[in-house]
Amino acid sequence: MTLLSVEDLSVTFDAETGTVHAVSGIDFAVEQGETVCLVGESGSGKTVACESVTQLLPTPPGSIEGSVSFDGEELTDKSERALREYRGGRVGHIFQNPQDALDPVYTVGSQVVEAIRLHRDDSKAEAKSRAIDLLDRVGIGNADERFHDYPHQFSGGMTQRVVIAIALACDPDLLIADEPTTALDVTIQAQVLDLLADLQAERGMGILFVTHDLGVVAEIADRVVVLYAGQVMERGTVEQVFTRPSHPYTKALLDCLPGRGASATIDGSLPDPKAPPTGCRFHPRCPHAVPACEQGDRPPFATVDGDHEAACILHEDPYELPAELGETDE
Ligand code: SF4
Repeated sequence: MTLLSVEDLSVTFDAETGTVHAVSGIDFAVEQGETVCLVGESGSGKTVACESVTQLLPTPPGSIEGSVSFDGEELTDKSERALREYRGGRVGHIFQNPQDALDPVYTVGSQVVEAIRLHRDDSKAEAKSRAIDLLDRVGIGNADERFHDYPHQFSGGMTQRVVIAIALACDPDLLIADEPTTALDVTIQAQVLDLLADLQAERGMGILFVTHDLGVVAEIADRVVVLYAGQVMERGTVEQVFTRPSHPYTKALLDCLPGRGASATIDGSLPDPKAPPTGCRFHPRCPHAVPACEQGDRPPFATVDGDHEAACILHEDPYELPAELGETDE
């Protein structure tokens, strides 16, 4: 069952120096029980795509066009009040910096209770019992005692566990996790990823996971959507994209992984989102660019295999696909 469907979504922001094209015509979907990873460099539009789902964006000034539907209901035309029913209810959010998500003047327990009572008719006692249970479930030892502690008394990893407990407070159908492990050390990151996998297996929720870390993607993703400069460049299952990267940008991202023998970064930088390049937005950095890459709009998606698609002109006649694209190297 499709939980989330994003179609032809474009988001712009009005800045003093011009219009920022944060995302332009992106499409992706999340099915029940699957994990979809949005990947790309910082500034590629991943967070804006995520925040568009329940309209957490700072608009106006700016605009959203296209469709975002959740469980068959269009969200883009819902009122702010209606959207609040989804946020923290059927859609849970985990953000990059857990400390920013908690209020330092309230105990963590009271913040979990508040999240529960915002969307459920539980009595205070019921909500407290559920909160302690949730804190315990996310791996906070002595949860009934730590319920009374303040955020500053928790380490970064433990704080992220509290944030996950809050996101799960109302048994969401969809969990949106925006770089949830970036601020954590490697050991804690692995624990949080394991926890999310366990909770997903237990509850069958869909997860939209945003990250620039392809090692994490390889570990948790069912499907991958590669974003560059606010547009989708490639999409497919994690096996398809990792074993047969078919867009030069995806290939360049994968080449940055440790042990691939290439540099840790891609030459060049992301374009100015106020003046994105014409044609393929990756053309100024692409080693395979031909003059036609600069013309018109983004190249259309070409089917690589099944629902594995790449938006690169080289997959069309009359171009010859470079040997490195489509090679299986794992
Ligand atoms: Fe490179 Fe052209 Fe393909 Fe873009 S369309 S990735 S510039 S070859």
